[in-house]
Amino acid sequence: MGETWKQGTICVQGGYSPKNGEPRVLPLYQSTTYKYDTPDDLAALFNLQAEGYIYTRIGNPTIAAFEAKFAQLEGGVGAVATASGQAAIMLAILNICNAGDHLLCASTVYGGTYNLFAVSLKKLGIEATFFNPDLPAAEIAALAKPNTRLVYAETLGNPAMNVLDFAALSQASKELGVPLVIDNTLATPYLCRPFEHGANIVVHSTTKYADGHASAMGGIVVDGGNFDWTNGKYQELVEPDPSYHGVRYVQDFGAAAYIVKARVQLLRDYGNCMSPFNAYLSNLGLETLHLRMERHSQNALAIAKWLEQDERISWVNYPGLASSDQYERAQAYLPKGASGVLTFGVKGGLEQAKAFIENLKVAALVTHVADARTCVIHPASTTHRQMTEEQQRQAGVTPDLIRLSVGIEDVEDLIADLNQALSGGKQYAHHRG
Ligand SMILES: *Cc1c(COP(=O)(O)O)cnc(C)c1O
Repeated sequence: MGETWKQGTICVQGGYSPKNGEPRVLPLYQSTTYKYDTPDDLAALFNLQAEGYIYTRIGNPTIAAFEAKFAQLEGGVGAVATASGQAAIMLAILNICNAGDHLLCASTVYGGTYNLFAVSLKKLGIEATFFNPDLPAAEIAALAKPNTRLVYAETLGNPAMNVLDFAALSQASKELGVPLVIDNTLATPYLCRPFEHGANIVVHSTTKYADGHASAMGGIVVDGGNFDWTNGKYQELVEPDPSYHGVRYVQDFGAAAYIVKARVQLLRDYGNCMSPFNAYLSNLGLETLHLRMERHSQNALAIAKWLEQDERISWVNYPGLASSDQYERAQAYLPKGASGVLTFGVKGGLEQAKAFIENLKVAALVTHVADARTCVIHPASTTHRQMTEEQQRQAGVTPDLIRLSVGIEDVEDLIADLNQALSGGKQYAHHRG
């Protein structure tokens, strides 16, 4: 059902279609366990011969509906929800990389992803090379090694807000015979569907726009079902899995080989699953994703234009601004809007930037992004503080950079708030208790 639906209809009704007399709203199945009549019924499930639920670590009806909706939104063949975005990224990588393997990663990725690849995966023997995502395809491909297993990048870099050159990256990964893994968190499948631009695997922190209300941690891995795993580099997907009595993922599950392995092997063993309650909340969030992303994008564009003409601001970076060097790419890959995050510099440097943040009344200082409420952060001293200044520069983080995550409030109130904060919080002084 719903194969021809557009994104808004999938947001509201995808993933769950109640039968006669069943609840209209996706129920929260807050159960770890499932009851069966005979040992043979359960054995068939353990053999992967029958479909059904065994144990919530590897599957649950509420989580499954959320996964099905997300896979439909992205246009993939299947999805696995995880405890957080970091858990999704780790699962996506470990599903096809072992000790001794190598990956290529855009230097503009989220700080947490950078640390995961540069520090924690390195300890497991997986090495990352970071590249400038604006390099031509041939130069990116030239950084590969015989043991390179994937290329990784973000649709919209967090917080550089650079728009990925999908054409170059997909060309480079095709040349190398490795999948292109895309973090689509800040764009969401409403604004961009990476599988249509050559991506093979998509990951998300659903903690951000998918939930959208800053109430549930979560992540998801979506399989495009469009990569040939039989090219000799991914033997674990082709040869029998001894931990699953000889299942052969490609032979037995075809286009869904990658995502079945991620669930039955890795989610089973690592246990980084989403909780049913978080799937329930995140599904409620998805029901309004299309409306929220439209408003986030409209508000962010209006604020970017307002900041751009204000003399107290030294620079503004938003890919939806006609003056942005990312504008053409944004028009090509994000035609419905450039999402809700923008960055800018306040004249006067670090001290002025800090005072500005302290003066805000509607926007709040939080370690978060992509939520219905407007929020702000200073990445150089927080999310990116573990990096050297040179690494920060490669990630697009300058000392004066302020990241504004524009919410879905009335934009007039947001602009008034920015205005008073830039002029020292004066207009609102009488409101202070
Ligand atoms: C927040 C974020 C992550 C990490 O997700 P968590 O849910 O916080 O673990 C990964 N990628 C991007 C682009 C993010 O913004």
